[in-house]
Amino acid sequence: MLIAGNWKMNKTRPEAVALAEEIVSGYGPVAGVDVAICPPAPCLDAVGAVVGNSGIKVGAQNVHAAEAGAYTGEVSAGMLRSVGCRYVIVGHSERRQYFGESDADVNAKARRTIEYGMVPIVCVGEHLEQRESGKAEDVVRAQVLGALDGITVGDPTGLVIAYEPVWAIGTGVTASPGQAQEMHAFIRQLLIGSLGDVGSGIDILYGGSMKPNNASELLSQGDVNGGLIGGASLDAASFAAIIAAAVDLA
Ligand code: PEP
Repeated sequence: MLIAGNWKMNKTRPEAVALAEEIVSGYGPVAGVDVAICPPAPCLDAVGAVVGNSGIKVGAQNVHAAEAGAYTGEVSAGMLRSVGCRYVIVGHSERRQYFGESDADVNAKARRTIEYGMVPIVCVGEHLEQRESGKAEDVVRAQVLGALDGITVGDPTGLVIAYEPVWAIGTGVTASPGQAQEMHAFIRQLLIGSLGDVGSGIDILYGGSMKPNNASELLSQGDVNGGLIGGASLDAASFAAIIAAAVDLA
């Protein structure tokens, strides 16, 4: 089980430090529940210093697929590794939507992340009209298989998938536990088909308006192995309550 907070483009460095301090002060590691926070890039090292050896891991929200070079404004996997990142979110729907990231881009970023010893959190999920027209599984299949093309994972902890229906992100509308489980089970089969036995142990997170009041029900679904939390991860008490829901189920 993994609970990961995606802070998106929120928090200056001092604000990020303050939020990380609040999260760390209320946190105690529990076997079976990993916790990560993903602040904006300029705050990664400062947040890393705050989490120290608390057990909370730090992740980035994006990475460039190239090793290094003339990509003004971009950040490489080596740079992220050098500031202590353990995870990298790749293919978030906001990056697909606003920055035109394709499945091939997501694949290249995931490969580079793995090459640098970090764990990609690969985000997939359909838009509302795709769900309403019965295409949700087709969309998610293409995203998962596109992201994993040519990737092999020796250990299930080396890869995380986040199913985030776009219509549930930041909207306050959550997939029902049944809808989440159904898609997670579908993704599970894709992972097993693509990666073999290791696919049965890969964490598949649910993301999309997960809050303290719905976390328990969502996390108790068999193939829901954690959450990628946006809005609620910006509030230490809410984030702690979601972690507590995961701990209760661990
Ligand atoms: C996200 O952006 O990954 C997310 C799940 O956001 P929210 O929890 O705010 O819906």
